[in-house]
Amino acid sequence: MTSLPWYRKPWAQILLGLALGVVWGVAAAGLGWSQFTNDWIAPFGTVFFNGLQLIAVPLVFASLILGVTSLRDMRKVSRIGGKTIAIYIATTAISVTIGLGYANALRPGDYVPEGLQRELAEQYREAAESREGQAATMMEERGPLAMLEDIVPANVVGASSSNRNMLQIVFVALIFGVALIRIPDNKGAPLLGFFKGLEAVVIEIVGIVMRLAPLGVFALIARAITGMAGDDPQQIVQLLGALGFYCLVVVGGLATQMLVVYPLILKFFSPMRLKRFFPSAAQVQLVAFSTSSSGATLPVTMKRAQQDLGVSEEVSSFVLPLGATVNMDGTALYQAAAALFIAQSLGMSIGIEGQLSIVLTAVLVSIGTAAVPGAGIIMLVIILQAIGVPTAGVALILGVDRILDMIRTATNVTGDMTVATVVAASEDQLQT
Ligand code: ASP
Repeated sequence: MTSLPWYRKPWAQILLGLALGVVWGVAAAGLGWSQFTNDWIAPFGTVFFNGLQLIAVPLVFASLILGVTSLRDMRKVSRIGGKTIAIYIATTAISVTIGLGYANALRPGDYVPEGLQRELAEQYREAAESREGQAATMMEERGPLAMLEDIVPANVVGASSSNRNMLQIVFVALIFGVALIRIPDNKGAPLLGFFKGLEAVVIEIVGIVMRLAPLGVFALIARAITGMAGDDPQQIVQLLGALGFYCLVVVGGLATQMLVVYPLILKFFSPMRLKRFFPSAAQVQLVAFSTSSSGATLPVTMKRAQQDLGVSEEVSSFVLPLGATVNMDGTALYQAAAALFIAQSLGMSIGIEGQLSIVLTAVLVSIGTAAVPGAGIIMLVIILQAIGVPTAGVALILGVDRILDMIRTATNVTGDMTVATVVAASEDQLQT
């Protein structure tokens, strides 16, 4: 880890961008500089946001193919593979349900001031109406298996031409990975090398785009405040209050997953004592918190799981790298809560069908989310599309995303360690 002074660390700079954006937004709203903010500041926010979106398709594609090909050992450990994936999906489903439960019970989006809710709804109405219209015609004209039809694209290039088709990309990547495992090693090696290179390049680009984050967040929040809150300072304060409450709801959900669900799983399905688990997990969580990347934390996760928790090398070297890519309980919980928050702030209500579709898409989407900073919010767009909420609503929560990213990444890695412990225990490969 670097020994930069705290004020040079990315998270501190982003928080600074956020704070300055708030100050600018409030001042501009008060002094009537909204137009100037729109013309000269907002574009930096758009550039940052587009930069993140730009890499979503190659990121998902490369990291999923590599995730699948790491199952190469599956012939050897097919039993472990099936078990691991089943437990990963189960913990993620529990996590999403907790996120939905909290966001439904506490309804943080309702605290967005009413005038602002109306303005937001007005601003996004057209998009919402056309999407609702689309959803309605789709339901009328198409049968219940329409989603299945949508998953398989007829054209790969077509599928990758829009970030909307991410599930198709996920499908193509999965089938590509499986085929890559099945062909002889000498034929597959160049492609495997290519995808490793592609993933490395894309992750590097994420890093470059993230350097823009302080400026991008500054611009986005300034624009959000001047554009959405009109010129009423009281509404701005209320909006910030609502955002703070939304953060508390997400953090409350993550804490429940980390401090209640994981301990219960460990207690029932392994002989692991919590006194041994948590001090070791804490070190991993700290790295995850400061890097916001389960991928970057992976070497530490593996070392602690083997050395402190007594998980065998065979289990940890299969379960943990797979988990870093596909198991993101914290991310899925956050995405569910964020989707509801955005819907609530736009005055839209999400019925039981919508909630179920959040559970399904959040589980699937968290599998395809790359283990790098900020990936979760890019993929949130897919969930919003699935439930017909205007994706532009993401702008509302971008400013507070980094801090939530840090906490959800810490949850993600704790989930990986929990599942590795349970799988090792079930295979008799846990040293107690
Ligand atoms: N940063 C998270 C991770 O690496 C992914 C996300 O953005 O939620 O686990």
